[in-house]
Amino acid sequence: MDFFDYPTHYQVIIVGSGHAGVEAACASARLGCKTLLLTQNVDTIAQMSCNPAIGGSAKGHIVREIDALGGMMGLNADATGIQFRMLNASKGPSIRAPRAQCDKKAYQFRMKALLENTANLTITQASVEKLLTKGDQIVGVETNFGIRYSTSAVVITTGTFMRGLTHVGKRSSPGGRMADTSSGISHELEKLGFHLGRFKTGTPCRLLASSINFDECEPQIGDENPSPFSHIRETLVKNIHDVHTLNYVDKEIFHVEQIPCWITYTNEKTHDIIRSNIDRSPLYSGMIDGVGPRYCPSIEDKVIKFSEKPRHQIFLEPEGRHTGEIYVNGISTSLPFEVQYNFVRSIEGLEKAEILRPGYAVEYDYCFPNQLYSTLETKKISGLYFAGQINGTSGYEEAAGQGLVAGANAALKVLMKAPLLLGREESYIGVMIDDLITRGTPEPYRMFTSRAEYRLRLRQDNCDIRLTEKAINLGLACNYRTESYHKKIKTIKALQDKLSQMCYQGIAMNLWLRRPENKAALLPDEYREEYSPEIWSLIETDLKFEGYLKREELQIQRAKKQEEKKIPTDIDYTSIPSLSSEARQKLTEFTPASLRQASKISGITPADIDVLTIWLSKR
Ligand SMILES: Cc1cc2nc3c(=O)[nH]c(=O)nc-3n(C[C@H](O)[C@H](O)[C@H](O)COP(=O)(O)OP(=O)(O)OC[C@H]3O[C@@H](n4cnc5c(N)ncnc54)[C@H](O)[C@@H]3O)c2cc1C
Repeated sequence: MDFFDYPTHYQVIIVGSGHAGVEAACASARLGCKTLLLTQNVDTIAQMSCNPAIGGSAKGHIVREIDALGGMMGLNADATGIQFRMLNASKGPSIRAPRAQCDKKAYQFRMKALLENTANLTITQASVEKLLTKGDQIVGVETNFGIRYSTSAVVITTGTFMRGLTHVGKRSSPGGRMADTSSGISHELEKLGFHLGRFKTGTPCRLLASSINFDECEPQIGDENPSPFSHIRETLVKNIHDVHTLNYVDKEIFHVEQIPCWITYTNEKTHDIIRSNIDRSPLYSGMIDGVGPRYCPSIEDKVIKFSEKPRHQIFLEPEGRHTGEIYVNGISTSLPFEVQYNFVRSIEGLEKAEILRPGYAVEYDYCFPNQLYSTLETKKISGLYFAGQINGTSGYEEAAGQGLVAGANAALKVLMKAPLLLGREESYIGVMIDDLITRGTPEPYRMFTSRAEYRLRLRQDNCDIRLTEKAINLGLACNYRTESYHKKIKTIKALQDKLSQMCYQGIAMNLWLRRPENKAALLPDEYREEYSPEIWSLIETDLKFEGYLKREELQIQRAKKQEEKKIPTDIDYTSIPSLSSEARQKLTEFTPASLRQASKISGITPADIDVLTIWLSKR
């Protein structure tokens, strides 16, 4: 078999152009590294395999963090969104979360165009089949066309494609997505000694809008004043030549032509059809080995596990502005087509519905994430990074957050610069990575606000305050973002100073604003006008929650102290007598970098941490 050694050396190679791959490629190229993006099909760059939505609870926080770090997802969702809503708007500031329905095709093609115009980035359609190493250092990849590319770092973001197998009833076919191929890279990773597991996820059918009776459904409309994700949304200008950018900002007004979603419900008849065919579901017939996401249950799971519920809510979500395709959120399934046909037509409004694409399940390999450092570099192979679904997560946002971190760190390592490390106190991305590498995940990992112990600090409205300085120092932020960030910080400082110096109703304004019954919106116009509602809300929240934020700060300082207690990589836990056998086994498996990481591993007790602390201090 003859090979062709490609004449150009790429400093960083990204494998896969899903949500992780595109962020990794952009971060590496923006840091100045000659970057190659190898992907099986350039027409599916940034494809939304499942729901046409970006953001939501905790996921919206991650999207804004990616934007604050100079990433792409936020601005691309703002440009291609067809409905915007702030979830939990009437609840506490830490759980408010932006969510957008996006035009899937516009999202994809706009991201593809952005990548094509990114300096230092080359895109090539190919499937990576071999990983080339020298000792424990990655040195290249080989594709299905027999081309060998040399490199200093590789980021693998192969999503649901590793030994991907799709299922509709008893019919299964190889593929990471329906009508897509799968990837054989699992074999290469096993050869290099990586441990793999098997997960599964599922998606619902897509229906033809013209066959749905929307009069039987309830409309769900977007917010009157849509809140964009990006901190530099004003860079979205009206441009009739840019067909993929649907929305723009003019004089601080975000212009979006929003379209509704629709709500309907399953019923007892639907549930009976599903129950009487449950043995034909690959999930229940044992055909599927993979472990599924607890928080995205299939309709089969809902009907069987929550049999007391007379109905389950369904959202009919348009997949775009110029398509009649409707995503049916709430009935993810892998039942045979005939059963899908019957239970869909038992639902109000869908009596005559035409199925464009059937629902299906996909099972795929993932790599146990405890084989990674917090830079997402693998512990076994230097210069090899994993990001996205390959690490056991589920979701566009979770994947994109990891992609940015892995792509940036691959580039920073090649450039011999300090890595991008995100702590649990800094970001949801930091919480996610820390959870994965210290605890692993028994099922597809989805982000929730409840996972973050410092969630008041990690609000969706202060992501740039928390992260953009870091992006600027690393070289991830563009000039425009850098300037607008510094301007914002100055504005915030000016208002904070003003609030501490001026009086209102006889007390200092910052004390007045701290009172729960007082709101900036209640202040007379002449006090407020100089600053935007966004700046007022940021400062008002910080003032009102000052006590809680101070308490979180103390917790963070304590955790930092534990983090400083590093554990040497060559430690032999079997030689520490008073450690429990479970602790020895778990610590050897996870090789934590610090006492704090060790304390996070499930099964490690405070007593084990005490033993370790004493042992380390003696050493
Ligand atoms: C059927 C289905 C249902 C889903 N349901 C949900 C859900 O309900 N909720 C949810 O949060 N998420 C869901 N997801 C997951 C969501 O799509 C992923 O979390 C997200 O897309 C992961 O992004 P990624 O970048 O890691 O991988 P992906 O988006 O899967 O992209 C992987 C990319 O790598 C490429 N690739 C793979 N192997 C190779 C190779 N060897 N060489 C070159 N290129 C390669 C692929 O072509 C693709 O471009 C679902 C996915 C699928 C397929």
